[in-house]
Amino acid sequence: MDMLIGGKHVSSEDNENVINPYNGEVIDTVPIAHRQTADLAIQEANNAKESLQEMSAFKVSNKLFNVVEKLKENREDFARLLSLEVGKPIKESLVELDRSIETLKLAAEEAKRIYGESVPLDAGLNGKGFFAFTQRLPLGVVAAITPFNYPLNLTIHKIAPAIACKNTVIIKPPTEAPLTVMKFAELLDEEFPDGVVNTVTGYGSEVGDYLVTSTEVNKISFTGSVTTGMMISQKAGMKKVTLELGGNDPMVVLKDADIDKAVKGVINGAFLNAGQVCMGVKRIIVEDEIADEFAQKLVVETEKLVRGNPLDLKTTLGTLISQKAAKQVEETVHNAVESGAQILTGGARDGAFYEATVIDNVTTDMDLVINETFGPVAPIIRVNNVDEAIQVANDTEYGLQAGVFTADYANAMRCAQEIEAGTVFINKQSTFRTDNMPFGGFKNSGVGKEGIKYAVEEMTKTKLIGLNLR
Ligand code: NAP
Repeated sequence: MDMLIGGKHVSSEDNENVINPYNGEVIDTVPIAHRQTADLAIQEANNAKESLQEMSAFKVSNKLFNVVEKLKENREDFARLLSLEVGKPIKESLVELDRSIETLKLAAEEAKRIYGESVPLDAGLNGKGFFAFTQRLPLGVVAAITPFNYPLNLTIHKIAPAIACKNTVIIKPPTEAPLTVMKFAELLDEEFPDGVVNTVTGYGSEVGDYLVTSTEVNKISFTGSVTTGMMISQKAGMKKVTLELGGNDPMVVLKDADIDKAVKGVINGAFLNAGQVCMGVKRIIVEDEIADEFAQKLVVETEKLVRGNPLDLKTTLGTLISQKAAKQVEETVHNAVESGAQILTGGARDGAFYEATVIDNVTTDMDLVINETFGPVAPIIRVNNVDEAIQVANDTEYGLQAGVFTADYANAMRCAQEIEAGTVFINKQSTFRTDNMPFGGFKNSGVGKEGIKYAVEEMTKTKLIGLNLR
Protein backbone atom coordinates (compact mmCIF):
# COMPACT_ATOMS: atom_id res chain seq x y z
CA MET A 1 0.00 0.00 0.00
CA ASP A 2 1.39 3.41 -0.95
CA MET A 3 1.67 6.48 1.22
CA LEU A 4 -0.76 9.32 0.75
CA ILE A 5 0.87 12.74 0.45
CA GLY A 6 -0.89 15.84 -0.85
CA GLY A 7 -3.68 13.64 -2.18
CA LYS A 8 -1.30 11.52 -4.27
CA HIS A 9 -0.06 7.98 -3.82
CA VAL A 10 3.66 7.98 -3.16
CA SER A 11 5.99 4.98 -3.14
CA SER A 12 9.65 4.50 -2.25
CA GLU A 13 12.57 2.51 -3.60
CA ASP A 14 12.79 0.81 -0.25
CA ASN A 15 9.96 -1.28 1.07
CA GLU A 16 9.10 -3.38 4.10
CA ASN A 17 6.81 -6.40 4.34
CA VAL A 18 3.95 -6.30 6.78
CA ILE A 19 3.83 -9.74 8.37
CA ASN A 20 0.86 -11.59 9.82
CA PRO A 21 2.26 -12.67 13.21
CA TYR A 22 -0.12 -15.66 13.33
CA ASN A 23 1.28 -17.48 10.28
CA GLY A 24 4.29 -15.45 9.17
CA GLU A 25 2.71 -14.66 5.80
CA VAL A 26 3.26 -11.33 4.06
CA ILE A 27 0.00 -9.34 4.09
CA ASP A 28 1.22 -6.37 2.10
CA THR A 29 4.27 -4.20 1.53
CA VAL A 30 4.69 -0.56 2.52
CA PRO A 31 7.23 2.02 1.40
CA ILE A 32 10.11 2.85 3.68
CA ALA A 33 10.28 6.59 3.21
CA HIS A 34 13.28 8.74 3.98
CA ARG A 35 13.72 12.33 5.11
CA GLN A 36 12.95 13.85 1.68
CA THR A 37 9.52 12.22 1.62
CA ALA A 38 8.79 13.31 5.19
CA ASP A 39 9.74 16.80 4.07
CA LEU A 40 7.34 16.58 1.13
CA ALA A 41 4.54 15.61 3.53
CA ILE A 42 5.39 18.59 5.74
CA GLN A 43 5.20 20.94 2.74
CA GLU A 44 1.89 19.47 1.58
CA ALA A 45 0.40 19.68 5.06
CA ASN A 46 1.48 23.31 5.32
CA ASN A 47 0.08 24.11 1.86
CA ALA A 48 -3.27 22.60 2.82
CA LYS A 49 -3.71 24.67 6.01
CA GLU A 50 -5.55 27.50 4.29
CA SER A 51 -8.10 25.28 2.55
CA LEU A 52 -9.01 23.64 5.87
CA GLN A 53 -9.03 26.83 7.92
CA GLU A 54 -11.33 28.52 5.43
CA MET A 55 -13.91 25.81 5.97
CA SER A 56 -16.73 26.54 8.43
CA ALA A 57 -16.90 24.46 11.62
CA PHE A 58 -20.27 23.26 10.31
CA LYS A 59 -18.65 21.87 7.18
CA VAL A 60 -15.70 20.29 9.01
CA SER A 61 -18.12 18.58 11.38
CA ASN A 62 -20.30 17.29 8.54
CA LYS A 63 -17.31 15.94 6.68
CA LEU A 64 -16.13 14.10 9.77
CA PHE A 65 -19.63 12.67 10.16
CA ASN A 66 -19.44 11.49 6.53
CA VAL A 67 -16.24 9.62 7.37
CA VAL A 68 -18.02 8.07 10.35
CA GLU A 69 -20.55 6.60 7.92
CA LYS A 70 -17.82 5.33 5.60
CA LEU A 71 -16.00 3.66 8.45
CA LYS A 72 -19.26 2.04 9.58
CA GLU A 73 -19.80 0.68 6.06
CA ASN A 74 -16.31 -0.82 6.03
CA ARG A 75 -16.27 -1.98 9.67
CA GLU A 76 -15.76 -5.71 8.96
CA ASP A 77 -13.03 -5.18 6.32
CA PHE A 78 -11.10 -2.89 8.63
CA ALA A 79 -11.45 -5.31 11.54
CA ARG A 80 -10.16 -8.19 9.43
CA LEU A 81 -7.12 -6.21 8.33
CA LEU A 82 -6.46 -5.21 11.93
CA SER A 83 -6.50 -8.84 13.06
CA LEU A 84 -4.20 -9.82 10.21
CA GLU A 85 -1.56 -7.22 10.97
CA VAL A 86 -1.71 -7.15 14.77
CA GLY A 87 -2.69 -10.78 15.52
CA LYS A 88 -5.54 -9.70 17.78
CA PRO A 89 -8.74 -11.77 17.93
CA ILE A 90 -11.36 -10.58 15.45
CA LYS A 91 -13.82 -10.03 18.30
CA GLU A 92 -11.41 -7.49 19.79
CA SER A 93 -10.76 -5.92 16.38
CA LEU A 94 -14.49 -5.36 15.95
CA VAL A 95 -14.52 -3.63 19.34
CA GLU A 96 -11.61 -1.44 18.23
CA LEU A 97 -13.62 -0.56 15.12
CA ASP A 98 -16.68 0.34 17.19
CA ARG A 99 -14.54 2.50 19.42
CA SER A 100 -12.85 4.11 16.43
CA ILE A 101 -16.28 5.02 15.02
CA GLU A 102 -17.24 6.45 18.41
CA THR A 103 -14.00 8.45 18.69
CA LEU A 104 -14.53 9.89 15.24
CA LYS A 105 -18.13 10.76 16.06
CA LEU A 106 -17.02 12.56 19.25
CA ALA A 107 -14.58 14.61 17.15
CA ALA A 108 -17.28 15.44 14.59
CA GLU A 109 -19.41 16.74 17.47
CA GLU A 110 -16.50 18.60 19.07
CA ALA A 111 -15.76 20.43 15.81
CA LYS A 112 -18.79 22.60 16.65
CA ARG A 113 -17.61 23.39 20.16
CA ILE A 114 -14.27 25.15 19.73
CA TYR A 115 -15.15 27.98 22.10
CA GLY A 116 -13.21 30.89 23.50
CA GLU A 117 -14.35 32.87 26.53
CA SER A 118 -14.79 36.45 27.59
CA VAL A 119 -12.13 37.64 30.01
CA PRO A 120 -12.83 40.32 32.64
CA LEU A 121 -9.67 42.41 32.25
CA ASP A 122 -11.14 44.89 34.74
CA ALA A 123 -10.40 42.34 37.45
CA GLY A 124 -6.76 43.30 36.91
CA LEU A 125 -5.20 46.44 38.37
CA ASN A 126 -5.29 48.57 35.22
CA GLY A 127 -7.86 46.76 33.09
CA LYS A 128 -10.89 49.00 33.54
CA GLY A 129 -12.62 49.89 30.31
CA PHE A 130 -11.55 46.87 28.30
CA PHE A 131 -13.64 44.21 26.66
CA ALA A 132 -11.63 41.08 25.98
CA PHE A 133 -12.24 37.58 24.70
CA THR A 134 -10.22 34.57 23.65
CA GLN A 135 -10.29 32.47 20.52
CA ARG A 136 -8.93 28.95 20.17
CA LEU A 137 -6.95 28.75 16.95
CA PRO A 138 -5.45 25.77 15.13
CA LEU A 139 -1.74 25.19 15.63
CA GLY A 140 -1.07 24.41 11.97
CA VAL A 141 0.43 20.98 11.25
CA VAL A 142 0.04 18.12 13.73
CA ALA A 143 2.19 15.00 13.37
CA ALA A 144 0.66 11.85 14.84
CA ILE A 145 3.17 9.13 15.70
CA THR A 146 1.42 5.96 16.81
CA PRO A 147 2.08 2.43 18.16
CA PHE A 148 1.15 -1.02 16.92
CA ASN A 149 -1.24 -2.24 19.62
CA TYR A 150 -4.39 -0.22 18.86
CA PRO A 151 -3.22 1.39 15.65
CA LEU A 152 -6.58 2.59 14.40
CA ASN A 153 -8.33 3.98 17.46
CA LEU A 154 -5.17 5.54 18.88
CA THR A 155 -4.45 7.28 15.58
CA ILE A 156 -8.04 8.54 15.34
CA HIS A 157 -7.64 9.90 18.89
CA LYS A 158 -5.03 12.24 17.41
CA ILE A 159 -6.04 13.05 13.86
CA ALA A 160 -9.79 13.42 14.39
CA PRO A 161 -9.54 16.14 17.07
CA ALA A 162 -6.68 17.72 15.12
CA ILE A 163 -8.89 18.10 12.05
CA ALA A 164 -11.91 19.07 14.18
CA CYS A 165 -9.99 22.17 15.25
CA LYS A 166 -8.65 22.69 11.71
CA ASN A 167 -5.10 21.40 11.84
CA THR A 168 -3.70 19.46 8.91
CA VAL A 169 -2.08 16.15 9.83
CA ILE A 170 0.80 13.87 9.03
CA ILE A 171 0.49 10.31 10.25
CA LYS A 172 3.57 8.22 10.95
CA PRO A 173 2.05 4.77 11.57
CA PRO A 174 3.88 1.91 13.32
CA THR A 175 6.09 -0.04 10.90
CA GLU A 176 4.80 -3.38 12.19
CA ALA A 177 1.09 -2.54 11.71
CA PRO A 178 0.60 0.41 9.34
CA LEU A 179 -2.14 -0.88 7.01
CA THR A 180 -5.41 -0.16 8.82
CA VAL A 181 -4.36 3.41 9.47
CA MET A 182 -3.24 3.95 5.87
CA LYS A 183 -6.56 2.62 4.63
CA PHE A 184 -8.40 4.95 7.01
CA ALA A 185 -6.38 7.96 5.79
CA GLU A 186 -7.80 7.25 2.31
CA LEU A 187 -11.34 7.62 3.67
CA LEU A 188 -10.49 10.99 5.20
CA ASP A 189 -8.78 12.11 2.02
CA GLU A 190 -11.96 11.46 0.01
CA GLU A 191 -13.73 14.08 2.15
CA PHE A 192 -11.10 16.73 2.79
CA PRO A 193 -8.89 18.79 0.44
CA ASP A 194 -5.59 17.22 -0.68
CA GLY A 195 -2.84 17.55 1.90
CA VAL A 196 -5.13 17.79 4.93
CA VAL A 197 -4.26 14.16 5.70
CA ASN A 198 -0.89 12.66 4.82
CA THR A 199 0.77 9.36 5.69
CA VAL A 200 4.50 8.73 5.89
CA THR A 201 5.63 5.16 6.43
CA GLY A 202 9.22 4.40 7.34
CA TYR A 203 11.27 3.93 10.43
CA GLY A 204 10.56 6.03 13.47
CA SER A 205 14.25 6.63 13.99
CA GLU A 206 14.42 8.37 10.59
CA VAL A 207 11.09 9.81 9.40
CA GLY A 208 9.62 9.99 12.91
CA ASP A 209 12.68 11.84 14.09
CA TYR A 210 12.50 14.18 11.09
CA LEU A 211 8.91 15.14 11.94
CA VAL A 212 9.84 15.65 15.59
CA THR A 213 12.73 18.00 14.83
CA SER A 214 11.13 19.92 11.94
CA THR A 215 10.36 23.57 12.70
CA GLU A 216 7.48 23.39 10.21
CA VAL A 217 5.54 20.90 12.29
CA ASN A 218 3.65 22.61 15.09
CA LYS A 219 2.70 19.73 17.32
CA ILE A 220 3.77 16.18 17.99
CA SER A 221 1.09 13.89 19.31
CA PHE A 222 2.86 10.70 20.24
CA THR A 223 1.72 7.39 21.69
CA GLY A 224 4.32 4.73 22.37
CA SER A 225 7.05 3.65 24.73
CA VAL A 226 8.66 5.76 27.45
CA THR A 227 12.06 5.43 25.77
CA THR A 228 10.85 6.92 22.49
CA GLY A 229 8.72 9.49 24.32
CA MET A 230 11.70 10.76 26.29
CA MET A 231 13.73 11.09 23.11
CA ILE A 232 10.92 13.05 21.48
CA SER A 233 10.57 15.41 24.42
CA GLN A 234 14.28 16.19 24.25
CA LYS A 235 14.28 16.85 20.52
CA ALA A 236 10.96 18.57 19.82
CA GLY A 237 12.14 22.12 20.48
CA MET A 238 9.52 24.88 20.64
CA LYS A 239 6.55 22.85 19.51
CA LYS A 240 3.71 21.47 21.60
CA VAL A 241 4.06 17.82 22.53
CA THR A 242 1.59 15.31 23.92
CA LEU A 243 3.09 12.03 25.11
CA GLU A 244 0.88 9.03 25.86
CA LEU A 245 3.42 6.50 27.09
CA GLY A 246 3.70 3.11 28.70
CA GLY A 247 2.04 1.91 31.86
CA ASN A 248 2.66 -0.59 34.63
CA ASP A 249 -0.84 -0.41 36.02
CA PRO A 250 -1.61 -1.92 39.41
CA MET A 251 -4.74 -3.77 40.38
CA VAL A 252 -5.17 -3.66 44.14
CA VAL A 253 -7.37 -6.43 45.55
CA LEU A 254 -8.17 -5.93 49.23
CA LYS A 255 -9.44 -8.67 51.57
CA ASP A 256 -13.08 -7.53 51.40
CA ALA A 257 -13.14 -7.43 47.58
CA ASP A 258 -15.61 -9.26 45.38
CA ILE A 259 -13.07 -11.87 44.30
CA ASP A 260 -15.01 -13.09 41.26
CA LYS A 261 -15.33 -9.55 39.99
CA ALA A 262 -11.62 -8.92 40.50
CA VAL A 263 -10.73 -12.17 38.70
CA LYS A 264 -12.88 -11.11 35.73
CA GLY A 265 -11.05 -7.80 35.81
CA VAL A 266 -7.71 -9.56 35.46
CA ILE A 267 -8.92 -11.79 32.61
CA ASN A 268 -9.91 -8.71 30.68
CA GLY A 269 -7.13 -6.48 31.96
CA ALA A 270 -4.07 -8.68 31.70
CA PHE A 271 -4.90 -10.81 28.66
CA LEU A 272 -6.76 -8.42 26.33
CA ASN A 273 -4.81 -8.02 23.07
CA ALA A 274 -2.40 -10.65 24.47
CA GLY A 275 -1.45 -8.21 27.23
CA GLN A 276 -0.24 -5.55 24.82
CA VAL A 277 -2.25 -2.71 26.31
CA CYS A 278 -0.74 0.44 27.82
CA MET A 279 -3.37 0.45 30.57
CA GLY A 280 -3.29 -3.34 30.95
CA VAL A 281 -3.26 -4.89 34.42
CA LYS A 282 0.46 -5.48 34.88
CA ARG A 283 0.79 -5.87 38.67
CA ILE A 284 -1.87 -7.56 40.80
CA ILE A 285 -1.40 -6.53 44.40
CA VAL A 286 -3.43 -8.85 46.63
CA GLU A 287 -3.92 -8.91 50.40
CA ASP A 288 -2.40 -12.15 51.64
CA GLU A 289 -5.54 -13.27 53.47
CA ILE A 290 -7.42 -13.84 50.19
CA ALA A 291 -4.47 -14.43 47.84
CA ASP A 292 -4.77 -18.24 47.68
CA GLU A 293 -8.47 -18.18 46.83
CA PHE A 294 -7.93 -15.35 44.34
CA ALA A 295 -5.05 -17.15 42.60
CA GLN A 296 -6.97 -20.42 42.40
CA LYS A 297 -10.01 -18.76 40.79
CA LEU A 298 -7.79 -16.78 38.44
CA VAL A 299 -6.11 -19.94 37.19
CA VAL A 300 -9.49 -21.57 36.46
CA GLU A 301 -10.69 -18.57 34.44
CA THR A 302 -7.34 -18.12 32.66
CA GLU A 303 -7.40 -21.69 31.42
CA LYS A 304 -10.74 -21.02 29.73
CA LEU A 305 -9.12 -18.64 27.22
CA VAL A 306 -9.10 -20.00 23.68
CA ARG A 307 -5.87 -19.60 21.76
CA GLY A 308 -6.20 -19.75 18.00
CA ASN A 309 -6.45 -18.10 14.62
CA PRO A 310 -7.20 -14.41 15.26
CA LEU A 311 -9.78 -14.50 12.44
CA ASP A 312 -11.80 -17.17 14.25
CA LEU A 313 -14.66 -15.69 16.29
CA LYS A 314 -14.05 -18.27 19.04
CA THR A 315 -10.45 -17.10 19.62
CA THR A 316 -9.94 -15.08 22.78
CA LEU A 317 -6.14 -15.10 22.87
CA GLY A 318 -4.25 -14.06 19.77
CA THR A 319 -0.54 -13.67 19.10
CA LEU A 320 1.84 -10.97 20.17
CA ILE A 321 2.94 -8.54 17.49
CA SER A 322 5.98 -10.70 16.62
CA GLN A 323 7.96 -13.72 17.67
CA LYS A 324 10.65 -11.34 18.95
CA ALA A 325 8.14 -9.71 21.29
CA ALA A 326 6.95 -13.12 22.54
CA LYS A 327 10.54 -14.21 23.19
CA GLN A 328 11.10 -11.09 25.26
CA VAL A 329 8.10 -11.93 27.47
CA GLU A 330 9.31 -15.53 27.78
CA GLU A 331 12.71 -14.35 28.97
CA THR A 332 11.27 -11.91 31.51
CA VAL A 333 9.00 -14.60 33.00
CA HIS A 334 11.90 -17.05 33.05
CA ASN A 335 14.03 -14.57 35.00
CA ALA A 336 11.25 -14.03 37.54
CA VAL A 337 10.96 -17.80 38.06
CA GLU A 338 14.74 -18.03 38.53
CA SER A 339 14.36 -15.42 41.28
CA GLY A 340 11.66 -17.38 43.12
CA ALA A 341 8.29 -16.63 41.48
CA GLN A 342 5.99 -19.57 40.65
CA ILE A 343 4.05 -20.11 37.44
CA LEU A 344 0.53 -21.30 38.30
CA THR A 345 -0.57 -21.71 34.70
CA GLY A 346 0.88 -20.92 31.27
CA GLY A 347 4.48 -19.97 30.74
CA ALA A 348 5.05 -21.52 27.30
CA ARG A 349 5.72 -19.87 23.95
CA ASP A 350 4.94 -21.09 20.44
CA GLY A 351 6.19 -18.70 17.74
CA ALA A 352 4.48 -15.36 18.35
CA PHE A 353 2.00 -16.95 20.79
CA TYR A 354 2.62 -16.73 24.51
CA GLU A 355 0.30 -18.58 26.84
CA ALA A 356 -1.88 -16.62 29.25
CA THR A 357 0.28 -16.90 32.34
CA VAL A 358 -0.49 -16.47 36.04
CA ILE A 359 2.59 -16.12 38.17
CA ASP A 360 2.50 -15.97 41.97
CA ASN A 361 4.87 -14.79 44.71
CA VAL A 362 6.29 -12.06 42.53
CA THR A 363 8.37 -9.52 44.41
CA THR A 364 8.91 -5.87 43.62
CA ASP A 365 12.60 -6.33 42.77
CA MET A 366 11.82 -8.51 39.72
CA ASP A 367 12.15 -7.03 36.21
CA LEU A 368 8.76 -8.56 35.42
CA VAL A 369 7.12 -5.81 37.49
CA ILE A 370 9.80 -3.11 37.50
CA ASN A 371 9.52 -2.66 33.73
CA GLU A 372 6.42 -2.75 31.58
CA THR A 373 5.91 -6.39 30.51
CA PHE A 374 3.99 -6.20 27.23
CA GLY A 375 2.46 -9.69 27.11
CA PRO A 376 -0.30 -11.90 28.57
CA VAL A 377 1.12 -12.20 32.07
CA ALA A 378 -0.68 -11.73 35.39
CA PRO A 379 1.92 -11.33 38.18
CA ILE A 380 0.60 -11.59 41.74
CA ILE A 381 2.36 -9.60 44.45
CA ARG A 382 1.16 -10.50 47.96
CA VAL A 383 0.89 -7.75 50.58
CA ASN A 384 -0.18 -7.60 54.24
CA ASN A 385 -2.48 -4.58 54.31
CA VAL A 386 -3.79 -1.55 52.48
CA ASP A 387 -0.78 0.61 53.44
CA GLU A 388 1.60 -1.83 51.84
CA ALA A 389 -0.71 -2.17 48.82
CA ILE A 390 -0.59 1.58 48.18
CA GLN A 391 3.16 1.69 48.72
CA VAL A 392 3.71 -1.15 46.19
CA ALA A 393 1.25 0.39 43.71
CA ASN A 394 3.29 3.60 43.75
CA ASP A 395 6.66 1.86 43.62
CA THR A 396 7.08 2.41 39.87
CA GLU A 397 8.20 5.05 37.42
CA TYR A 398 4.80 4.76 35.68
CA GLY A 399 1.42 6.25 36.58
CA LEU A 400 -1.11 5.65 33.81
CA GLN A 401 -4.24 4.10 35.36
CA ALA A 402 -5.05 1.89 38.36
CA GLY A 403 -7.87 -0.34 39.62
CA VAL A 404 -8.85 -1.03 43.21
CA PHE A 405 -11.21 -3.81 44.32
CA THR A 406 -12.74 -3.41 47.77
CA ALA A 407 -16.12 -3.12 49.48
CA ASP A 408 -14.80 -0.62 52.00
CA TYR A 409 -15.45 2.97 50.95
CA ALA A 410 -12.82 4.44 53.26
CA ASN A 411 -10.12 2.22 51.77
CA ALA A 412 -11.46 2.86 48.28
CA MET A 413 -11.13 6.61 48.79
CA ARG A 414 -7.69 6.27 50.38
CA CYS A 415 -6.44 4.27 47.40
CA ALA A 416 -8.09 6.66 44.94
CA GLN A 417 -6.39 9.64 46.56
CA GLU A 418 -3.00 8.13 47.28
CA ILE A 419 -2.28 6.07 44.17
CA GLU A 420 -0.31 8.23 41.77
CA ALA A 421 -2.03 7.67 38.43
CA GLY A 422 -3.94 9.66 35.83
CA THR A 423 -7.04 7.57 36.56
CA VAL A 424 -8.04 5.35 39.49
CA PHE A 425 -11.08 3.11 39.09
CA ILE A 426 -12.83 1.56 42.06
CA ASN A 427 -14.12 -1.97 41.46
CA LYS A 428 -12.97 -1.84 37.85
CA GLN A 429 -9.62 -2.76 36.36
CA SER A 430 -7.31 -0.12 34.89
CA THR A 431 -7.99 -1.50 31.42
CA PHE A 432 -11.07 0.61 30.95
CA ARG A 433 -11.53 3.75 28.95
CA THR A 434 -14.34 5.64 27.34
CA ASP A 435 -13.20 7.73 24.41
CA ASN A 436 -14.48 11.01 25.82
CA MET A 437 -12.76 10.83 29.21
CA PRO A 438 -9.51 12.69 29.95
CA PHE A 439 -6.87 10.05 29.40
CA GLY A 440 -3.18 10.39 30.15
CA GLY A 441 -0.74 9.34 32.80
CA PHE A 442 1.29 10.83 35.63
CA LYS A 443 5.03 10.33 36.15
CA ASN A 444 6.80 8.73 33.18
CA SER A 445 3.51 7.59 31.67
CA GLY A 446 3.20 10.85 29.83
CA VAL A 447 2.47 14.50 29.38
CA GLY A 448 -0.92 15.93 28.39
CA LYS A 449 -4.34 14.38 27.94
CA GLU A 450 -6.36 12.81 25.15
CA GLY A 451 -10.11 12.17 24.99
CA ILE A 452 -11.47 14.34 22.20
CA LYS A 453 -12.32 17.55 24.12
CA TYR A 454 -9.00 17.38 25.98
CA ALA A 455 -7.01 16.64 22.82
CA VAL A 456 -8.59 19.69 21.18
CA GLU A 457 -7.32 21.82 24.07
CA GLU A 458 -3.83 20.52 23.39
CA MET A 459 -4.13 21.08 19.65
CA THR A 460 -5.19 24.73 19.71
CA LYS A 461 -3.54 27.94 20.80
CA THR A 462 -5.36 30.66 22.70
CA LYS A 463 -5.40 34.21 21.37
CA LEU A 464 -6.72 37.08 23.48
CA ILE A 465 -8.31 40.03 21.73
CA GLY A 466 -8.75 43.12 23.88
CA LEU A 467 -10.77 46.20 22.93
CA ASN A 468 -9.99 49.46 24.73
CA LEU A 469 -13.45 51.01 24.98
CA ARG A 470 -12.35 54.27 26.56
P1 NAP B 1 7.45 2.61 20.18
O1 NAP B 1 8.50 1.62 19.85
O2 NAP B 1 7.82 3.74 21.05
O3 NAP B 1 6.88 3.11 18.79
C1 NAP B 1 5.81 4.00 18.68
C2 NAP B 1 5.93 4.82 17.42
O4 NAP B 1 7.08 5.66 17.51
C3 NAP B 1 6.14 3.97 16.15
O5 NAP B 1 5.42 4.56 15.08
C4 NAP B 1 7.63 4.07 15.94
O6 NAP B 1 8.03 3.85 14.61
C5 NAP B 1 7.89 5.52 16.35
N1 NAP B 1 9.28 5.82 16.68
C6 NAP B 1 10.26 4.97 17.06
N2 NAP B 1 11.41 5.65 17.28
C7 NAP B 1 11.15 6.96 17.05
C8 NAP B 1 11.93 8.16 17.10
N3 NAP B 1 13.21 8.14 17.44
N4 NAP B 1 11.34 9.33 16.81
C9 NAP B 1 10.03 9.38 16.47
N5 NAP B 1 9.24 8.27 16.39
C10 NAP B 1 9.79 7.08 16.67
O7 NAP B 1 6.20 1.89 20.88
P2 NAP B 1 5.49 0.53 20.45
O8 NAP B 1 6.35 -0.61 20.81
O9 NAP B 1 4.95 0.64 19.07
O10 NAP B 1 4.22 0.56 21.41
C11 NAP B 1 4.19 0.00 22.67
C12 NAP B 1 4.31 1.06 23.74
O11 NAP B 1 3.32 2.05 23.58
C13 NAP B 1 4.08 0.49 25.13
O12 NAP B 1 5.01 1.05 26.01
C14 NAP B 1 2.68 0.93 25.45
O13 NAP B 1 2.39 0.99 26.83
C15 NAP B 1 2.65 2.28 24.81
N6 NAP B 1 1.28 2.72 24.60
C16 NAP B 1 0.80 3.79 25.31
C17 NAP B 1 -0.52 4.18 25.16
C18 NAP B 1 -1.10 5.35 25.91
O14 NAP B 1 -2.12 5.87 25.47
N7 NAP B 1 -0.51 5.79 27.00
C19 NAP B 1 -1.35 3.49 24.27
C20 NAP B 1 -0.82 2.40 23.58
C21 NAP B 1 0.49 2.03 23.73
P3 NAP B 1 8.54 2.38 14.14
O15 NAP B 1 7.35 1.49 14.25
O16 NAP B 1 9.00 2.61 12.76
O17 NAP B 1 9.64 2.01 15.09
